[in-house]
Amino acid sequence: MSKVWFSSLEDNAGAVEISEKLVRLYDAAGFEKIFGEDEFTAVKIHFGEKNNTGHIKPQWIKPLLDTLKEKKCKPFLTDTNTLYRGERQNSIDHLMQAYEHGFSIETLGVPVIIADGLLSKNFSEVAVPGEHFQSVRIANDILHSHSLMVLSHVTGHILSGMGAAIKNLAMGAAPRSGKQVQHADVRPEVNAEKCRGCRLCMEWCPRDAIQIYDGVARIDIEKCYGCGECIATCRYQAIKYSFNDTSRALQEKMAEYAFGAVKNKEGKCCYFNFLTHITKECDCMDKVQDKITGDIGILASYDPVAIDQASVDLLKQNSGGDILRRLWPKNDYSVQIIHAGRLGMGSIDYELVDVDVS
Ligand code: SF4
Ligand code: SF4
Repeated sequence: MSKVWFSSLEDNAGAVEISEKLVRLYDAAGFEKIFGEDEFTAVKIHFGEKNNTGHIKPQWIKPLLDTLKEKKCKPFLTDTNTLYRGERQNSIDHLMQAYEHGFSIETLGVPVIIADGLLSKNFSEVAVPGEHFQSVRIANDILHSHSLMVLSHVTGHILSGMGAAIKNLAMGAAPRSGKQVQHADVRPEVNAEKCRGCRLCMEWCPRDAIQIYDGVARIDIEKCYGCGECIATCRYQAIKYSFNDTSRALQEKMAEYAFGAVKNKEGKCCYFNFLTHITKECDCMDKVQDKITGDIGILASYDPVAIDQASVDLLKQNSGGDILRRLWPKNDYSVQIIHAGRLGMGSIDYELVDVDVS
C-alpha cells in the first residue's frame, strides 16, 4: 500500500497558502532524499494553453523550486510540444506561452526547457512491456534528467475522462509523434489541396512510405506503420488523421507511455496533484473554463497510481458523487489507473495522510 499525503484548501485559496502547503507536503513526504547535488531535475508542468486560467500558477510553485535549489540540484521547468494546433506546438511558441503565463527564469529562478526540442524531434525509444507498445518515445530532456517532479492539475478530459499524474507523464513526456500514436490507430491521409510538395514528410518517414507525385505527397499505406511522424512534421496540416481509437485503448496506451517516462528513474520521482479549479476539460483548452466543484486541496506521493486514485476518490467525496463519470459517461477514467497498476507503476490501494492534522 502506498502513502499519499494530503493538505486541504479553502475554495479560492491565495497563492501564499497554496505555496506553503506545497512545501509542507514536500517535507512531510520526505521528498528531499530524491534530489542530489548537481543532478538535472525535470519539473514537469503544463503551462496552460492561451486563454486557459485553470493551470497551476507560477507563484504557487516558487517556494517549492527554491527548496529544490537548496538541495543544489539543477531544476528546470519542462513540458513537450502538442500534437494539436495551438500556442504550444513548437518550442518557440511554447516558450512564449509559458512566459505569457509567468513561467520564466526571472520570476521563478529556474529555466524553462521544452523537452522534445524545437520541432519535437528530440526523443529516444524506450522499451516497455506493454500490450499496445513494445517501445515508447520519450522526450530526451526528461529521459536524461536524473530526477523528476511531476506537478499535475487534475481535470476532466474529453477522451480519457480524467487527466492527472499518469496522463501528465504519458502525453507530457512524449514528443508529438508519441502523442499521435497514443491517440489514434493511424491511417494518415494527405489532403492534396493543402499539400505543397515540400518533401519534409518524405524525409522524416522511417518506412519510406511517402513519395511525391505531381507535387503532392502520396502515402503507401501498406508500408506505413502508423508512427505519426509525417503528421507531426507537416507544417501545413496537409496530413489528416482520425481519433478513432476507443477511450479504453487510449488510456492503456497512456499508461504504457507513462511507464516509459519513469522507467529509468526508480526512487527518483515524486508527484503533486492539484485538486484546484477542477474543470470539465483539460488545460489544453484555449478558453476560460468554469470549475465543476469547489477546490479540495493538494496531494503528494511517490506513486502515480496511488495519487491518481486518491485524487478521484477525494473528488467523489467532495462533489456529491462521481462527477467525472457524470460529465464523461462514455469514458471510464479508471482504465488508465488500473493499467498503470498492472504494469507495476504503483498501487491502487493507498493510505491517505492528512498533513494538516498529523
Ligand atoms: S510535409 Fe506536408 S506539405 Fe510537405 S510534402 Fe508532406 S504533406 Fe505535403
Ligand atoms: S505514419 Fe509514419 S510510417 Fe506512416 S507515412 Fe507517416 S511517417 Fe511514414
